[in-house]
Amino acid sequence: MSKRNYKSNNESSSLAKQPKKHWSLGLLDTMKDPKYVYKDSERVVVIKDKYPKAKVHYLVLPREQISSIFSLNKTHLSLLEEFGTFVKDIRQEHKDADIVAGFHAVPSMHLMHMHVISKDMISDCLKTKTHWNSFTTKFFIPYEEILERIRNDGAVKRISDETHKQLLAMPLKCNQCEFVPKNLPILKQHLLTHNS
Ligand code: AMP
Ligand code: ZN
Repeated sequence: MSKRNYKSNNESSSLAKQPKKHWSLGLLDTMKDPKYVYKDSERVVVIKDKYPKAKVHYLVLPREQISSIFSLNKTHLSLLEEFGTFVKDIRQEHKDADIVAGFHAVPSMHLMHMHVISKDMISDCLKTKTHWNSFTTKFFIPYEEILERIRNDGAVKRISDETHKQLLAMPLKCNQCEFVPKNLPILKQHLLTHNS
C-alpha cells in the first residue's frame, strides 16, 4: 500500500470515528445554518422548525446557551421580553395566520426554545396524537404565562410525569371548533375546512 493510500484510509477511518451528536442537540447546528435562520439580533436567533407542525412554525432561541425553561430566572427577564418583540414582528409578517407563541412543558430538544406557530396545524410533519396534544393542550405553555412565572416566582416548575402522560394522552379535539374526531387522519381532513 502506498503512503498516500495509507494516509487517506487513515483519514476516512478517523472521520468514521467522530462521535455522532445526539439528535436532541440538533438546534445548535440549525441555529448556525443560514438556510434555517429566519431573523436574529445580538441576543436572539429565530429559526425555521425543521419539521414544522403548521404552515408557520418558527423556534426562537437565545444565543446564550440556556439549557431549558427550567434554567430561567429573573436575570433572563429582558431576554424574554425581547422574545415578545420577535413574536410581534412574526405576527406582522404573517398577517393571514393566527399565531400563538409558547413553550412545551417538557421539551424534547436541548437549548431553551419558544415555538411560534400558526393555529392551522396543516403539515405533513404532524403525524401523531402526541404532536397534536403538545400544541393544543396545557402541555403548551403560552409565552405570556412563562413571562409571568419568571416575573413573579423567578422560575418555571416541572410538571409531574403523571400530568405529562395525561396531557399527551388527552382525547383529540379540534383547536378551532368543538369538533371531536375519531382519529388523527379525520382531524387532519377537518382542519382543511378551517382553511378554505
Ligand atoms: P420541543 O418538544 O419543544 O423540544 O420541540 C422541538 C422542536 O424542534 C420540534 O418542533 C421539532 O420539529 C424541532 N426540531 C427537531 N430537530 C430540529 C433541528 N435539528 N432543527 C430545527 N428544528 C428541529
Ligand atoms: Zn374545527
